[in-house]
Amino acid sequence: MLSVRHILEKTIARFTRAGVDSPRLNAELLLARALNVTRGELLGAGDRELAPDHAAKFDALAARREAREPIDYILGKREFYSRTFVVKPGVLVPRADTETIVDTLKRELPEAAGLAADIGCGSGALAVTLALEFPRLRVLATDISQVALQVTRENAARLGAQVWCARMDGLSAARGPFDLIVSNPPYVDPADADGLQPEVRDHEPPEALFGGQGGVEIAERLLLQTAEHLKPGGVCLFEHGFNQGEAMRALAGQAGLRDARTVQDMAGLDRVLVAHK
Ligand code: GLN
Repeated sequence: MLSVRHILEKTIARFTRAGVDSPRLNAELLLARALNVTRGELLGAGDRELAPDHAAKFDALAARREAREPIDYILGKREFYSRTFVVKPGVLVPRADTETIVDTLKRELPEAAGLAADIGCGSGALAVTLALEFPRLRVLATDISQVALQVTRENAARLGAQVWCARMDGLSAARGPFDLIVSNPPYVDPADADGLQPEVRDHEPPEALFGGQGGVEIAERLLLQTAEHLKPGGVCLFEHGFNQGEAMRALAGQAGLRDARTVQDMAGLDRVLVAHK
């Protein structure tokens, strides 16, 4: 039989060969999951020997990570804005970049109220966080993906948020008008697909990643819908790629929005378009 310590060392070597980032952390998280203990408990039990059923369970999890499946899909959860969200294949893993939208709203519109929409809600990280952080907002979450709406509903229920979910393309079937519209649309340029991590390229839903020509074709269409559905005086925030700030400001202007500007993420990169109707 193998001890915890021994299995961890073997797995770290295996993950390193497969090109997995932070191989030790990944090995520890998965072994803790297989043994149904916390990471702290695991590290205090290096001499513990694994029962065969635990070893088999761990092997199955480790094989998935070795094949570069995102750790968040394997664990079934991911933190966003200090809350734990359920995630699964079929929805984009929430990223810290998207917290830039929440932070910007907290800074600039701390009393946000009225009707809000999140276009392309994915896991629901953004819609649920808005509903919880801004209790005077009523939030509609839309997505073309049935899985996304299911996961958003599950996260809203678990976290005690009231979010209305509706399957549609953008806001095509929404009434509004909205005081606030946010979106983290697909914005990767398909020409850059080869440069993506295997976790992203091979496992996350392509329809949540690739934004058409230049990465901004879908955003362009959603900005037109946004201009149509915002109340006069309403505001929108769209996440985008670090090199798309200028293009997004121009597209916002073409859609009839005004005062377009760009907010930077925690790394100092252009990340979020803010524009008004
Ligand atoms: N930031 C993501 C990535 O490249 C892209 C997410 C998106 O297209 N909305 O990993």
